[in-house]
This record gives sequence, structure tokens and C-alpha cells, in this order.
Amino acid sequence: MNAPEYLPSLTVRASSWAGLFDCAYRWEGIHLLKLRNVVGLRAALGTAIHAGTAVFDQSRLDGTGLTADDAAGAMVDTLRDPENEFDPTRDDITISEAERVGLTLVSKYCIEVSPRYDFVAVEMETKPLDIDCGSGVIVRLTGTMDRARIRRQGDGVGIADLKSGSAAVQKGAAVTKGHGPQIGTYELLYEHTTGQPITDDAEIIGLKTKGAAEIGTGTIRNAKRVMVGGDGAPGLIEFAAEMFKTGRFYPNPKSLLCSEKYCPRYATCRFHD
Ligand code: SF4
Repeated sequence: MNAPEYLPSLTVRASSWAGLFDCAYRWEGIHLLKLRNVVGLRAALGTAIHAGTAVFDQSRLDGTGLTADDAAGAMVDTLRDPENEFDPTRDDITISEAERVGLTLVSKYCIEVSPRYDFVAVEMETKPLDIDCGSGVIVRLTGTMDRARIRRQGDGVGIADLKSGSAAVQKGAAVTKGHGPQIGTYELLYEHTTGQPITDDAEIIGLKTKGAAEIGTGTIRNAKRVMVGGDGAPGLIEFAAEMFKTGRFYPNPKSLLCSEKYCPRYATCRFHD
């Protein structure tokens, strides 16, 4: 008698999971079909800013005493690291402008923003979370909570997620639209990893990389509920399970990332305008 056949399980980075709910077809292209997505300098700048701020916040936790200047140095090192690969023709910014913006934002973050928070973890490593999609398909979420912190405020524990980008701050506040699935995933993983509940709203800390350097915050509520559902309504995880079970990943030509610049599937995708 043949052994029962099971579809292979997939391992997915927790930080990529939210992209599934933006354009699943794009997500499949990048994470399952391994199409390469070469980013522009602005995205590389974002990576560098996050590296600098993470070094600073981790040092605050460890008590190793790194300064805003040390964090700025880490930002520049990352920006100039050949592994932080980007296509210089894709964005309207030069490397020296990128460095200037990065230095301003990292210094501002370290001096004015980070000290306002009581962080208990920076880019926390999560315990793998298995999602049973049915028909023998198990999707495992793993990895760190890239760019996010766990913060304590009074008795409450919540997620603070750093987002950088040209329009990450508008009218003085961080843009929260579209970040719910990422936050919901992190809340779920925090509770799964630590066994402790999330007891406070989540916060986006936005760092604007175009125009005047601005940092603003915004609140996201009930993100985990959107992920897991409740009161008889399905959550996004249920929709995701259906996609993995059937192998149907739906296109979203209205995605903000639906362009040649941000989507490696653009050239072959029939669904965009
Ligand atoms: S081109 Fe647009 S619709 Fe097609 S996969 Fe990319 S983001 Fe999705």
C-alpha cells in the first residue's frame, strides 16, 4: 500500500505575510516563484534607516550605550553595503541625498522619538506558527518581526512598527492605511511566542523620506481580529488558507505596488491596466 500523499508544507517569513493581502498574485511571484524584485534607492534607504534605528533601540535594551551618532554610522554602512542592492536608475534621488535624508531621520528618531518609548523587544524572533490550510497543506510562519518593536505603556503591551517611505507621514501623522494585516500578524505571533496577550493598541511610527524629514505616529486597533476573525466572520488567515489549499492567488491591479517598479510579475501579469 502506498503511503498517503501530502502536499509539501511551506515556510513563509512572517514579515512577508501581509503582502499576501495586498496582491496575492504578486506575493506568489516573489515568494513562491522566486521572481526577483530589484528595489530602487528609496527602498534601500528605508532598509538603512531601519538598520540604524534598530541598532539604537537594541542598545537601549541591552544598556550598551550606543549614541545617535553610532546609529547614524550603522545607517550609512548599510546604505553603502553592496548587499543592500538597488537599481540607481529607479528613483529620483542620489546616494548623497539619500545619505542626508537618512542621517536626519535617524538622528531625529534617536534623540526625539525613541526615548519616549519603553521597548521590551526589538525585531523579536518568533516561535514558528503553523497554519493548517486543510488537505494536508501546512503553512509555517517564521522569522523575526522585522522593523517592529514591542512597547510597554503602563500595564499595556503593544506593537510599535516603524514604516519609512516617501509618504509615510501625512498631515503630521503616520499613515496607517494598509498596515493592519502586518500588525495583526505580529500581534498573533507575539502572543504565540510569549504566551502573553497583547493588551494595547498598535502604533505605526512613520518616517518620511521625501521632502522635509518628518516622523509621526498613528494608531491601529483590533488588527489581530482582522487576521483571525470572530463572531462568525472569517479572518484573513481563513482566506489565506484557501489560497494555499487551492493554489489560487488572486491579483489586485489596484494595489499601490502594481507597477513595473514594484512588481516583478508586471511584465507577464495580464491583470493590470
Ligand atoms: S502587476 Fe499588479 S495585479 Fe499583477 S501581480 Fe503585479 S501587483 Fe498584482
